[in-house]
Amino acid sequence: MEQKETLKVLFLSAEVVPFAKTGGLADVAGSLPKALKKLGVDVRVGMPRYGPIDPTKFDLTTVLEPFDVPMDGQTLQAGLSQATIGQEVPVYMVENDHYYNREGIYMYPDDAERFIFFCRALLEGMKRLGWSPDVVHCNDWHTAIVPNWLKTVYQEDPFYKGTATIYTIHNLAYQGIFGYRVLEVAGIDEFGFIVHPDIPDLDNVVDMMGRGIYFADLINTVSETYAQEILTPEYGENLDPLLRDRRDRIFGVLNGIDPEVHNPATDPYIAAHYDLHDLVGKTACKRALQAEAGLPQDPYIPLIGAISRLTDQKGFDLIAQVIDPLVQNAHFQFVLLGTGDQRYHELFQQIQQRYPERVSAFLTFNAPLAQKIYAGSDMFLMPSRFEPCGLGQLIAMRYGSIPIVRSTGGLADTVQDLEPETGFGNGFSFQHYSAMALYGSIIRALENYKYEDTWRRLMAKVMSADYSWSASARKYVDLYRRALAARTPRPPRESYQVGGPPAEES
Ligand code: ADP
Repeated sequence: MEQKETLKVLFLSAEVVPFAKTGGLADVAGSLPKALKKLGVDVRVGMPRYGPIDPTKFDLTTVLEPFDVPMDGQTLQAGLSQATIGQEVPVYMVENDHYYNREGIYMYPDDAERFIFFCRALLEGMKRLGWSPDVVHCNDWHTAIVPNWLKTVYQEDPFYKGTATIYTIHNLAYQGIFGYRVLEVAGIDEFGFIVHPDIPDLDNVVDMMGRGIYFADLINTVSETYAQEILTPEYGENLDPLLRDRRDRIFGVLNGIDPEVHNPATDPYIAAHYDLHDLVGKTACKRALQAEAGLPQDPYIPLIGAISRLTDQKGFDLIAQVIDPLVQNAHFQFVLLGTGDQRYHELFQQIQQRYPERVSAFLTFNAPLAQKIYAGSDMFLMPSRFEPCGLGQLIAMRYGSIPIVRSTGGLADTVQDLEPETGFGNGFSFQHYSAMALYGSIIRALENYKYEDTWRRLMAKVMSADYSWSASARKYVDLYRRALAARTPRPPRESYQVGGPPAEES
């Protein structure tokens, strides 16, 4: 591959900021392509056009009138419209009212079909546009079928003959596991289930994530530590034997954040602007947040923020254990923004009723409010059980909110525990996943907050660090070139076909 040739990359994601977001995947899909474009990559993003995406607000234009898409032994119709992110990254949106004209992004019984259709429509749509990508960059289970197709149904197609695939695991816990029927929908039933001697379960389910890992030319995850962790049974979510088989093709590339979107000097959602050299605005942001959260407006009390999906992954079982003793023994306010497991909704409703002057919980998804919490908090809590990368801690640091994290995955790669004697470190972290360890870290953070000089130095350190995509986008360009050089042939047939009747549907 000639280095000077422009790389053409089709970047597929189920969610993309600013059009649709439930978590960090959308942030990545909305910012990495912009950084790739700056490096000269001809990158184009693909996503479904969900019902709530406002065509006027985003200036959508029609690129392709409805065209045929093979699906489940017949043909369905998809349209393609286009928006842009940044100055000039095209975002192709697959249109099909039946599949996407709904309020939400996920959690529908036909999700497998919806995302299979989305991917197939894009592959077919690119043929109609005559734009043949060098690399298809797939993200999470929703797009994991693409490497599988390129090595089966598109194997002989001249349009995709030179195309390599890279598969990014943003969270191994969400694998997209379905029954045999999905293979028929995708038109690959003749190839059957994947067989792996150490993962017998794969012989009777369609594990989308497993397929992405199995068929992609290269695989990466979103931090170096998580790339190592997933090779172990503890973090491997049952796919670690497959990941170990492919370990020479697995890389870790740390996520960045969009420094234009997350900038306390320009953020349109926060009460006052500030930067490293003038922090007066941060105090105003804290006061405004306290007011909005119904907490006493005290500039001196340390305010801990948390913005998260409310799941065990994010350490909420630990927070649930420590919150009562902490509120009783230490002096701080806590503001939570999150949605997720019902039991955590109920728990935090009770806690805020118990401590109305100290704890405030917004149990909803609200992007502007998230910005206000990053800006108005002194500390940011993220005690994850596992964390592929984590964006919350990066955004928090950019806003001068000091992270308190468990040292795992991307949190281990971005937050180092403060050593007060030497000044080393940029936050507070603990190793052992336990309530005691979390409790100890929060107390240490609160104690250090009392020392204005220490705290100012910490804020200066985190606010001046570079969390942008500049370094990581270069690594992706390198991975794309490697994927092209390392394109693998189709895996041997015996490794992905089982004899006998198909298993029952899930
Ligand atoms: P994950 O992708 O695992 O949920 P990350 O830390 O990588 O976690 O990214 C979470 C992203 O979603 C951050 O941008 C965070 O601010 C945002 N976020 C999470 N929960 C909410 C919420 N309830 N309201 C608004 N934004 C949220």
